[in-house]
Amino acid sequence: MINSLLIANRGEIACRIIRTARAMGVRTVAVYSDADANALHVRMADEAVHIGPSPARESYLIGEKIIAAAKATGAEAIHPGYGFLSENAEFAQAVLDAGLVWVGPKPSSITAMGLKDAAKKLMADAGVPVTPGYMGENQDPAFLAEQAASIGYPVLIKAVAGGGGKGMRKVDAAADFADALASCQREAAASFGNDHVLIEKYILSPRHIEVQIFGDTHGNIVHLFERDCSLQRRHQKVIEEAPAPGMDEETREALCAAAVRAGQAVDYVGAGTIEFIADGSEGLRADRIWFMEMNTRLQVEHPVTEAITGVDLVEWQLRVASGEPLPLRQEDLYINGWAMEARLYAEDPATGFLPSTGKLDVLLRPMSSRVDTGIEEGSEVSPFYDPMIAKVITHAGQREEAIDDLRYELSKLGVWPVKTNAGFLHRLLGDADFERGDVDTGLIERRGEALMATPLPPATELTAAAAQLEDEAAVPRALAGFRLNRTADTSRALRVNGQRVEYEADARADGYFASHFEPFDGGAALLMVHEGTTMIVAPDRTDGAASGAAGDGAILSPMPGKVIAVEVAAGDTVVKGQKLLTLEAMKMEHSLTAPFDGVVAELNAEAGAQVQVEALLVRIEAAE
Ligand code: ADP
Repeated sequence: MINSLLIANRGEIACRIIRTARAMGVRTVAVYSDADANALHVRMADEAVHIGPSPARESYLIGEKIIAAAKATGAEAIHPGYGFLSENAEFAQAVLDAGLVWVGPKPSSITAMGLKDAAKKLMADAGVPVTPGYMGENQDPAFLAEQAASIGYPVLIKAVAGGGGKGMRKVDAAADFADALASCQREAAASFGNDHVLIEKYILSPRHIEVQIFGDTHGNIVHLFERDCSLQRRHQKVIEEAPAPGMDEETREALCAAAVRAGQAVDYVGAGTIEFIADGSEGLRADRIWFMEMNTRLQVEHPVTEAITGVDLVEWQLRVASGEPLPLRQEDLYINGWAMEARLYAEDPATGFLPSTGKLDVLLRPMSSRVDTGIEEGSEVSPFYDPMIAKVITHAGQREEAIDDLRYELSKLGVWPVKTNAGFLHRLLGDADFERGDVDTGLIERRGEALMATPLPPATELTAAAAQLEDEAAVPRALAGFRLNRTADTSRALRVNGQRVEYEADARADGYFASHFEPFDGGAALLMVHEGTTMIVAPDRTDGAASGAAGDGAILSPMPGKVIAVEVAAGDTVVKGQKLLTLEAMKMEHSLTAPFDGVVAELNAEAGAQVQVEALLVRIEAAE
């Protein structure tokens, strides 16, 4: 068994690998960039080596630096995780040439699966069904257009060197083919330095189903069943589960046998995944599932397989890399229950999923299920790397339970002030089609706005929030507009993320409420986690009379912070949406804008001033 391991990665996967290595008594070495100097994986490892500036291409992607770090620390082996250098055959070879152990397949297996066209040909020869299409050398646009026509529209143009959902174009009709081809080639040349494409039949009702395989150096290859990763946003997986809903035993056997044949064709060693695409329009059928590509590494979604098989895949990787045979035979492996994983991204669904970076002042994480993460409270989410900050994994006897558990965990997951997709995931898991197992890769896009928009918490939850605020001793009870009589059934108002929200007090809130509340800003406000969305709730201090039909013109500081720019002066005429001032709070800039056309009636802010949460900064009086 190897005694020491360098992990050539960061974030959740580095932490996850360290966890197993440690349990096996293997000494761990982390590598880190400037941005990751205080990262969790660095603190978890026995030793850590700085390998350069924050951008990955100057640190995590430089093979020589990583090999030098292994040499300097006496690490015997290198685990690449996923992404970065994990599927770089030259790097794998360089690791071996340096006399180190590579925790992964042979470089020749990586190369064989590296380009989509070559991989498809190899698989077709091995008797693995591949998606119908053209995967030849001829790249003449007119010829490719003919091929597309004979395959039949819609087709998918794919860069042979593509990955991560990049370099793909769906084309619905012949008239659009030339433009789509040119744009795909441009993107492929820019992103992958290779503009070759293949053309595939676009599968309708596509489901993404993949099979985990594992090989050792003694010629054994087993599969660990399938995962369904059909819930995708822009070809990126969002929710993964194992097994696949609607998979019968016969289809599973055919699919998994094909995956093992695929592994055998490239003499596969270690953890690998064969990705298939299924036409799910009439349920899952063995003759409607085709090979798409192979990932020659550990996948992000490997925990769902671990959950249903009870196997620690990282442990197997380290054993196989040490020359041991696979710990279990095929007949010893079976599926136990159902597992579900959600990928938590630091991104804001309300702004079209723009990444959200900065310091995590608050992180309330689930307690009762597996969370793989590289962050903790106080961590910095940096703009340099993938915005996925955690994975939440549930495992239960039945699919419905696994979904319910995951929804519950997400509903309580609070992150502030960085925005996450937890609320979006919560809504997605509640989708009726998904609950029925009726999934395909287009589901998220079809739902559109219904999944993106964050609804305000219902009156019950706001009433409960108000009651909590009253209980916080620090809140002066005399605040105007904030009623103390909980049973009085009157209209009330709160500030939710700085916006005035009116609601009817709901007496049921004295009994049950679903949101999670934490005192915030010394008790002057509450951090409220409602169905996965984290918000700051504070008393509304504006005079109720000012909030007529025209709306309320009071602009309050949504959180404690510093005014960094004031764009208006008292008496100015402003139009709806006009920027009034910029607030810097928790390392993020927030623009406060005019809610309607009017005049700046009051201005209590100057650049450089520190302001408290809920401070009245500007008041706009509506134009007549
Ligand atoms: P990448 O290497 O960029 O991840 P893949 O070939 O794995 O590209 O495809 C990514 C996703 O695109 C799949 O998970 C699936 O949702 C969709 N996709 C790929 N091929 C097809 C196809 N022929 N028809 C329909 N959808 C497809």
